[in-house]
Amino acid sequence: MNQDAGNSTPPAQIGRAEPCLWLNPQWQARLPKAVPLAGTRIGLADTQAAAERMARFAPLLARLFPELAQTGGVIESALLAAPALQSALGPAPAHGRLCIKADHRLPVAGSIKARGGIHEVLEFAEGLARRHGLITPQSGPGDYLALADGAARALFARHTVAVGSTGNLGLSIGVAASALGFRAVVHMSLEAKEWKKQRLRQRGVQVVEHAGDYEAAVAAGRAQAAADPYSHFVDDERSLSLLLGYSAAALHLRQQLQDAGIVVDAEHPLFVYLPCGVGGAPAGITFGLRQVLGAHVHCFFAEPVQSPCFMLQMMAGQGAHPSVYDWGLTNRTEADGLAVPRASLPAAELMAPLLSGCFTVTDDALFRRLVQVLDATGERIEPSAAAGFGGPAMLLGTDAGRAWLAARGLLAQLPQATHLVWTTGGLFVPEEEYRRFVYRGRALAT
Ligand SMILES: *Cc1c(COP(=O)(O)O)cnc(C)c1O
Repeated sequence: MNQDAGNSTPPAQIGRAEPCLWLNPQWQARLPKAVPLAGTRIGLADTQAAAERMARFAPLLARLFPELAQTGGVIESALLAAPALQSALGPAPAHGRLCIKADHRLPVAGSIKARGGIHEVLEFAEGLARRHGLITPQSGPGDYLALADGAARALFARHTVAVGSTGNLGLSIGVAASALGFRAVVHMSLEAKEWKKQRLRQRGVQVVEHAGDYEAAVAAGRAQAAADPYSHFVDDERSLSLLLGYSAAALHLRQQLQDAGIVVDAEHPLFVYLPCGVGGAPAGITFGLRQVLGAHVHCFFAEPVQSPCFMLQMMAGQGAHPSVYDWGLTNRTEADGLAVPRASLPAAELMAPLLSGCFTVTDDALFRRLVQVLDATGERIEPSAAAGFGGPAMLLGTDAGRAWLAARGLLAQLPQATHLVWTTGGLFVPEEEYRRFVYRGRALAT
């Protein structure tokens, strides 16, 4: 590993809210079988256990959610080739091939939060049901159908599942928990969109509105739940269950890459660009991808210029917990899924040896990309989900990016590389709201 390839000094652009790239000097090609996380260690077996849990619940999910009937209860997204978009994005991404991991279409939650959020609700439900003898560790997927009625419903109805969210995690947890029969409470921050609150209320979820930011909503939810022994709080800043639910995406993606004939090895690097809020979703996925694809997958997190909390945390290291406000930034962005002032510490610890880098994008760029995606592919994504599209140009079109590629010995492989942009939300954005996004993006187009 070339230590000079990364540079931990903060890019000067951060405090000026200008787009920039940070490269991780602690990145390691070789990984131990289990990676340190919050006083424990996690490995591939944990990711597989999360995937198996989702599989046990699949028939039950298919019964609870008609939209899952087609896939037998599997919540997954397509891997899309995007050649037309590649030309539209400009000269830099012309190297190699561009693909989209279409989590903007994920059913039930309409965002990447379907992966972690639903997994945590299921893990909580499974634990309760086992403790009450309704299922056993030997129960198969068919036995889990019993959790849809009678004794299980009554048991779940006595428990609350709560979460603090800027919007999408609330949608995922709220909808899944209330479908299983739990009381569901979602603490929403001020960024949360009105339509998300409405969607939850229509499903019987209690929405508590907070005047503060994401951290304030999480803190309020955590405090309320701590006072109630029948309440389970989904802690977006600390939850292992969320993170492992996200990581299971890697197992499915490995199969999709194989099916598409996309090889990942020294000659064929894979670059993955993941929108990042608190860091749990992209960290879980990066953890999973590094376990199943090794050192030739290079993961980058994308954040709004006003909310680069993960970049700041990675630069500061584990002793500190910086906030974007300390840097004079506002945490104001239309990318509501990414409007987080301080990163998850466990996610940042886990990423220290695994993550290749972070970069930031302006809101204007998000809206331009959203329109380019619509025009080139017909796909409808929300602003947060557009953050990854700046990745290829950051790597291939900047001095810092090219120096990193050169130091890693990757320049010669670029023609055979795959750039995978993870689009993280959009399915349920109301028509009117989406039209406003497109209008803004078109007004900006040059
Ligand atoms: C939550 C979210 C992310 C990022 O997930 P974190 O776990 O907060 O980092 C990305 N995109 C969308 C649309 C989201 O809702």
